[in-house]
This record gives sequence, C-alpha cells and structure tokens, in this order.
Amino acid sequence: AKREPGSSYRFYDHQLHISAGHQLRLEGDLRHALRGRELELYYQPRIDLATDEVRGVECLLRWNHPERGLVGPDEFIPVAERSGLIVPIGYWVIEQACQRLRESADLGFPGLVFAVNLSFRQFHDRKMTETIFRIIFNANVDTSLLELELTESAMMHDLDYAQRCLRELNQLGISFALDDFGTGFSSLSNLQHLPISLVKIDKSFIQELGHSADAEHIIRAIISLAHSLQISVVAEGVETEGQLEFLRDQHCDEIQGYYYARPMPWKDLVQFLRNRGQA
Ligand code: C2E
Ligand code: CA
Ligand code: CA
Ligand code: CA
Repeated sequence: AKREPGSSYRFYDHQLHISAGHQLRLEGDLRHALRGRELELYYQPRIDLATDEVRGVECLLRWNHPERGLVGPDEFIPVAERSGLIVPIGYWVIEQACQRLRESADLGFPGLVFAVNLSFRQFHDRKMTETIFRIIFNANVDTSLLELELTESAMMHDLDYAQRCLRELNQLGISFALDDFGTGFSSLSNLQHLPISLVKIDKSFIQELGHSADAEHIIRAIISLAHSLQISVVAEGVETEGQLEFLRDQHCDEIQGYYYARPMPWKDLVQFLRNRGQA
C-alpha cells in the first residue's frame, strides 16, 4: 500500500520540528513563489582534477522570500515534496537549467555540464519522462550536457519504473549521477543495472578525512569500485587543501566544494568562469 504523500503534514513535521501552521504557511508561500519568480538557481562549479577546468555546475535551488530573505533548499524542499509542489518546481528547475545551458554556449563556454537534482517525488509523476522530453525539445539544447542527480532512495520505491525512466531519458542523451553516494541504502547492484555515469561521494565522508581512517578506506573503495565500472567520481563538500590532495592522490575525477567556490548566482558564475580564463 502506498502512503499518500502529504497525508501527515497537517499534524507535525518530525524532520524539521516545525508546527503544522508554519508548514501550511510555507506551502502557501511556496506556491506563490513558483508563480511569482521568487525561486532562483545558484550554480556551484565542479572542477576536473586532471585539467583544472570547470567541467560543470550543479544547479541548486534558492528562494528569495520577500520577508525572510534567501531561504535554502533544506528548509523548503521537504515541504515541497510532501505537498507535491516539487513536481512543478522540478520542471521549472530543468527549464531554467536548459535556458542557462543555451546561454552558456553563447557566452563562450560551450561544453559546460549542467547538473540538476531530481527528487524521489518527481518519479511519482507518471508523465515525468514525457514532460522532461518536451522541455528539452523546446529548449533545443545539447542533451549530453544535461545531467540528473538522484539518490538511490529516490528509486527504491519502484525500481522497475525508475529503471525504465532512466533508460528512456538516457536514450535522449541525458546522463545520471548517484548523489550522496555511500549514505543510506547504497546497493552496489544499482550501479550495474542503472545507466549511471557518475557517483558523488557524500560530503560527510570528505569531512571526516583526517579524523577517521574509515573515511579514507571508504573513499578509496568507492573510487576504485566506480572506476572499475567505468563510472566517474565527484567528491562533494571539499573545503580544505588537505582533502583536495587526498582526493587527487586517489584519482578522484572531479571535486565540488567551498574550497573552490560556493554556489553562486548566474552572473557571478559567468564572472568566475571569465576570471579563470574559461570564456
Ligand atoms: P545536495 O544535492 O547534496 O547538494 C550539495 C549541497 O552541499 C548544497 O547545499 C551545497 O551548497 C552544499 N555544499 C557544497 N559544497 C560544500 C562544502 O564545501 N561544504 C559544505 N558544508 N556544504 C557544501 P544546498 O544548496 O543547501 O542544497 C541542499 C540540498 O537541497 C541538496 O543537497 C539537494 O538535495 C537539495 N536541492 C537543492 N536544489 C534542489 C532542486 O532543484 N531540486 C531538488 N529536488 N532538490 C534540491
Ligand atoms: Ca546533488
Ligand atoms: Ca550530495
Ligand atoms: Ca543531500
């Protein structure tokens, strides 16, 4: 039996410990935000360790709330997921990313990969592949530059269906990354049975580097396993030179983190790329 998503939000939010009233208000505000252009994408560069170039960017949602200022996704994505609003929001994110992808070619950095996060809840929309297809067709973008990031738990609810969606989208040229790899229900067989071309090592492991030998072993194992399957590895949450050097020694492919750059508005990203001589 499927639990109705959203069925419990009226009472209490266990994850965020916020009241039902607050949650309802947030939901109403969010609906309004989607219509009223209060949502914005920030872009965090991903650096290729072999070439020292920005290979791509992860698109991260921000909410310019009229009263509360900039609100981060950890605060509103759970609300959007429970209410189902993540579905239209998710399509907006893909549309926006495609628009920037087109712009990036005109600005002189073709080949930049745009990675977008997909929520488990978006798989509940049976028109997902069809809608994504329509968006990329209308935007007329090079689909090989579009990457979708998803967590394994996003697919576990209905693995067969998820597998079919991924295959269909993969046939259009879209590639997939497994996000937060190493946490939750990692199942190595997913790597084999799904069209995954990249794994992102969760930042909790990176942040343990230097404090825990286990973290080192896990990171080494993930990189070697991924590479043996022809899968690239991105480390997220890299903040220090020490972490960077360890990852370089382990032949990690790309890194993402505050050490290089925080997520930033589009204008700043354009400047960032120009300053690095990539435009
Ligand atoms: P995520 O996909 O794991 O994204 C990486 C998060 O790590 C981002 O947080 C990013 O700002 C943060 N980060 C990057 N480098 C560092 C670092 O060096 N140190 C630290 N401490 N953090 C770093 P953010 O932007 O707050 O996003 C949080 C989560 O919200 C994302 O986690 C993702 O799960 C979700 N999210 C963001 N945008 C979207 C979206 O458009 N759709 C969906 N469904 N989820 C989104
Ligand atoms: Ca992500
Ligand atoms: Ca992640
Ligand atoms: Ca995450």
